[in-house]
Amino acid sequence: MDTKKLGFNSKLIHAGHFKDEFLSATVPIYQTSTFSFKSAKHGADCFSGEDDGYIYTRIGNPTINALEQNIAELENGFGGIGTASGMGAVTTIYIALLKQGDHIVSSDAVYGPARVAMETIFAGYGVESTYVNTSNIEEVKAAIRPNTKVIYVETPANPTIGITDLKAVSKIAKENDCIFVVDNTFCSPYLQKPLDLGADISFHSLTKFINGHADIVGGMIVCKEEKLYKQVRSAMVTMGPNMDPHQAFLVIRGVKTLAIRIDRAQENAMKIAKYLENHPKIAWIKYPGLKSHPQHELAKEQMSGFGTMISFGVKGGAEAGSKLMDNVHLATLAVSLGGVETLIQHPASMTHAKVSKENKIKAGITDDLVRYSAGIEDLEDLINDLKHALDKV
Ligand SMILES: *Cc1c(COP(=O)(O)O)cnc(C)c1O
Repeated sequence: MDTKKLGFNSKLIHAGHFKDEFLSATVPIYQTSTFSFKSAKHGADCFSGEDDGYIYTRIGNPTINALEQNIAELENGFGGIGTASGMGAVTTIYIALLKQGDHIVSSDAVYGPARVAMETIFAGYGVESTYVNTSNIEEVKAAIRPNTKVIYVETPANPTIGITDLKAVSKIAKENDCIFVVDNTFCSPYLQKPLDLGADISFHSLTKFINGHADIVGGMIVCKEEKLYKQVRSAMVTMGPNMDPHQAFLVIRGVKTLAIRIDRAQENAMKIAKYLENHPKIAWIKYPGLKSHPQHELAKEQMSGFGTMISFGVKGGAEAGSKLMDNVHLATLAVSLGGVETLIQHPASMTHAKVSKENKIKAGITDDLVRYSAGIEDLEDLINDLKHALDKV
């Protein structure tokens, strides 16, 4: 069956799946490190690429491959590359695309460790980087240098929920011969398809929405074109941050409900955002679905929904925010996001703790910022939980 012609929900359940010799209804876990060859010639042909048989799980595995094809189809890309974690995807992309003397322009409000890896480890290897507010296209343009090879954007940004115009950045990337990479974790392909908007690579921490059940970490890189896919795949296979078959199996199970989970969670998020916006103890709130969000119109244009991530500040600053986080009981005080359960955390002291104070301030990661990932619990319970906690502030 050509699943490419199917609708998004059908793809979630069928794309990339294959029938094994027992015609099992789900993709089995091929928990094996290596695969036998039918003959010495077959082995040689597998290595030369003449035969597409499996060789060794770091290079490829049927369970992992099923997930790679599934996500690649959801993103309208050529192929997917599974990695051990989202950070495995980030560093594989850096290694595949950047060498000594190259330069990357990146969003300043970006997943903390993605910036820390660049400014410590990769800077040590001679890679230069400039972090700018990519929501402002002029800042992106001004940051480009003759040696800029990659433009890297996260939208909505973590944790400031700023939106970057992907079509506009893609134009700058093309004009300057740069590869355009988008961290699509906050949206998943259900809400945003960066490759359709001009990106060359869209990648994910599968740990979040795509798996959705807070029980594994994983990453996936999807490339639009075959040439780039081969380049990134070769870097992953050589460096070794590959996915594990059991991990792939769990994500295959999780991704099937991606659309219905996000539909429900973002319905909750919209109502929670409205509740907080009108609460007298809330100082400010950023949610793309609110008219008060400075890029509400852009979000409407490039995303098919507003997502489940809300950032806000409580009047009284960081101390009041801590009081709120200590007094919610249904929302779990934990990092991560995009699962069926509601999570709350404090980026400045948690996910972005290792980003320097100066860079945090420049990126808008203020001390009072509380990040909320709406889950699929009953709305009334979530609102009561926040109401109770805000009463204590
Ligand atoms: C979590 C996350 C990552 C890193 O993924 P891991 O699976 O934790 O390694 C990268 N980008 C974003 C936006 C994330 O939320």
